[in-house]
Amino acid sequence: MNIHEYQAKALLRSYGAPVSDGRVVLKAEEAKTAAGELDGPLWVVKAQIHAGGRGKGKFKEPEAGEKGGVRLAKSVEEAEALAKQMLGRTLVTHQTGPAGKQVNRIYIEAGSDIARELYLALLVDRQTSRISFVASTEGGMDIEEVAAHTPEKIISFSVDPASGLSDFHGRRVAFALGLEGAAVKQCVALVKTLYKAFVEKDMEMLEINPLIVMPDGNLKVLDAKVSFDGNALYRHPDIQALRDETEEDPKELAASKFDLNYIALDGEIGCMVNGAGLAMATMDIIKLYGAEPANFLDVGGGATKEKVTEAFKIITSDPNVKGILVNIFGGIMRCDVIAEGVLAAVKEVGLQVPLVVRLEGTNVELGKDIIRNSGLNVIAGDNLSDAAQKIVKAVKG
Ligand code: GDP
Ligand code: MG
Repeated sequence: MNIHEYQAKALLRSYGAPVSDGRVVLKAEEAKTAAGELDGPLWVVKAQIHAGGRGKGKFKEPEAGEKGGVRLAKSVEEAEALAKQMLGRTLVTHQTGPAGKQVNRIYIEAGSDIARELYLALLVDRQTSRISFVASTEGGMDIEEVAAHTPEKIISFSVDPASGLSDFHGRRVAFALGLEGAAVKQCVALVKTLYKAFVEKDMEMLEINPLIVMPDGNLKVLDAKVSFDGNALYRHPDIQALRDETEEDPKELAASKFDLNYIALDGEIGCMVNGAGLAMATMDIIKLYGAEPANFLDVGGGATKEKVTEAFKIITSDPNVKGILVNIFGGIMRCDVIAEGVLAAVKEVGLQVPLVVRLEGTNVELGKDIIRNSGLNVIAGDNLSDAAQKIVKAVKG
């Protein structure tokens, strides 16, 4: 789960990280008062969307002289005007995709003077099963360029969970960032703070870009991007409360409400499968025969008819879906339950696209009978390969 920058900063502040004072506003009328509560003479007006690259982003239907989603203002009036300009507009960045994201919240922050922009991130390194630090002196808006062209400028190391974090990790980061004087001590403290927050809140990623050195030599967290492990959210009601559903894919949101493991993709063949491994294999075989999956979906072992119905509805709500492949190997899951769920869903939402069903395992004959006697135009698949070829043929001709 992702959260907004202003929420991430509030969280980090509560752990003691150096963050500027700021206010979030939902309406342009609130902007002037909000800005007035902060110390000038510089304000930063920042579009809050669940995507980075806002500074270099572009609004759709841009107005003359307009720059991205992070702007500096020299007065509260200017801050208000910028907030007004951004609210309700669609911001396109290299992370949003071409559709962009609508700006519904603005964060107004007391502006900082910048001497250097640095990069610091923590993430779960799946290769070492440890938390890794990633640091670079080349922070700011071009970190992707640095990674692509001068990767030696990015330093990374992981923390052994058995011995935990020590001061030397902090000094290692400080050294990698080329810090001096008081900033070294601040960096050691910040590294501790970030690591503590990361572990306690079950974060998946915590990215500070930029972490700045100010002209007076002090450090400040100028941007923060945090995502949490969805499987650990049940332990953190305070984090769950930060969820902004308007930022999420509506299909994935609906799926999460029914406890379905669904990931939206951009292909044309919707997949309903039981078991994550079989779902992966199904996506692979669709690709093998020349098409692309529209989603990953594991309905799970103990899915009910209602859950299957919801899953089917979510798949068909995707306008890119030109055909559906149901691939069930019934072990714990019974084929007749799947068949009934598919039928119930088709009755509710109709069937506009070809549907191939491959059933195998527990109650397979019963399941096939239910489909056969339904009067629906369903293509039966004899095995995985046959079913995949049939749905690709039905879609691609
Ligand atoms: P992003 O583009 O979505 O990563 O948004 P950031 O919060 O990182 O802001 C983009 C850039 O705006 C930063 O890299 C800074 O150069 C600049 N910026 C952000 N806040 C301030 C500020 O308080 N003062 C100054 N001078 N520049 C800022
Ligand atoms: Mg940034």
